[in-house]
Amino acid sequence: MSQRIVIVGGGYLGVQLAKGLDSKAEVTLIEPRSHFAHTPALIRAVVVPELLDQALIPYDGLLKNGRVIKARATSIDANGVTLENGQEVPADYIVVATGSSNAVPFKPKSDSIEAFRADNARGHNMLKAAKSVAIVGAGAVGTELAGEIAHFMPEKDVTLVSAEPSLFPQMPQKLGAELTSKLSKAGVKTVFGAQVKNLESTTEPYSGTLELSNGQRISADLIFPVIGSRAATDILETLPGASKGNSRRIETDAWLRPSELPNVFAAGDVAETGDAMTVVGASRQAPWLEKTLVSLMDGKAVEDTPPYKPWDKAPFLVPLGPQKGNSYLVLFTAGSFLTRALKGKDLFLSKYNKMLGRG
Ligand SMILES: Cc1cc2nc3c(=O)[nH]c(=O)nc-3n(C[C@H](O)[C@H](O)[C@H](O)COP(=O)(O)OP(=O)(O)OC[C@H]3O[C@@H](n4cnc5c(N)ncnc54)[C@H](O)[C@@H]3O)c2cc1C
Repeated sequence: MSQRIVIVGGGYLGVQLAKGLDSKAEVTLIEPRSHFAHTPALIRAVVVPELLDQALIPYDGLLKNGRVIKARATSIDANGVTLENGQEVPADYIVVATGSSNAVPFKPKSDSIEAFRADNARGHNMLKAAKSVAIVGAGAVGTELAGEIAHFMPEKDVTLVSAEPSLFPQMPQKLGAELTSKLSKAGVKTVFGAQVKNLESTTEPYSGTLELSNGQRISADLIFPVIGSRAATDILETLPGASKGNSRRIETDAWLRPSELPNVFAAGDVAETGDAMTVVGASRQAPWLEKTLVSLMDGKAVEDTPPYKPWDKAPFLVPLGPQKGNSYLVLFTAGSFLTRALKGKDLFLSKYNKMLGRG
């Protein structure tokens, strides 16, 4: 008899895993949103809102055999998952991939895709009306946003503020140096090594004056806070033996199990897997989980299967609009040509539309 795998959360991890297991098990994906939100394109979508039509992808074409239940899970135990309406979904194995939240309008804030469209439209209109824009946080999202605005709206006065001493100081120096130089040529000002002392919101764009730890004051018609992802750990925290790590993600054992329940796994942004909170990380964990779950369904003990090995050095691609950018491709650092070809032009829209069975 086919075994029941319930996946909670239809983000990158959940979608790839559900698709991979669709012909091998009885798959149920639990996801409250009507559409998958393809985050790499949601940065450009602030500047080019028409992109939302491709970046928000309905779930109805994802599975051939399995089912998608449009609901929020409220709790799990060894026997299955309970939904917000009280329904119980029985499972032999459970994978929790509830992901993370981010600032508006870079990821949906609620379960309503209509509300997300409205947030995107509001952000876009604020951007159109603004002369000066400050971006607080120069991770990949903040840096890419600066590049997208500079490309599509070169008349804007854009400042990128970072508490770090340079762009991506943990990566080979050439990557950050070349990106900084390209941003500067595109007219973007960068301020490094400065904390914002009076950030009014960490989740919503607003208009105001930033006071920096270096004494500088930056007044901007529009301030985008982009200071990182927050793991959505709620339904895992109450499991026996579960705990959160320094990054506020849920800790796991070597087989990505977050608790004493041997048939419950967690992966993607929600779990401390050893990978960064990236699609690149989830795309490595999903095939490993698929293989491991197939072995378990074949009767193997988890301890007899290979533990998860995170990326040693993960690739990292940073487009600055559709033409320019730089990428760390592990063996070397690539420039605009490869960054455009690998990511900047299409932003992986074709790949994820295909994965979800659209187009
Ligand atoms: C603007 C932006 C751009 C990015 N660009 C890149 C990039 O170019 N490359 C890259 O590698 N990474 C990128 N990232 C990071 C990437 O988006 C995340 O690492 C990725 O989304 C993690 O996937 P996930 O499946 O773990 O979770 P998520 O994508 O966060 O999905 C989690 C899903 O779980 C659902 N969920 C939550 N709680 C429940 C519940 N209780 N019950 C049921 N379902 C639930 C949510 O509705 C959501 O659909 C970007 C992030 C942002 C914000």
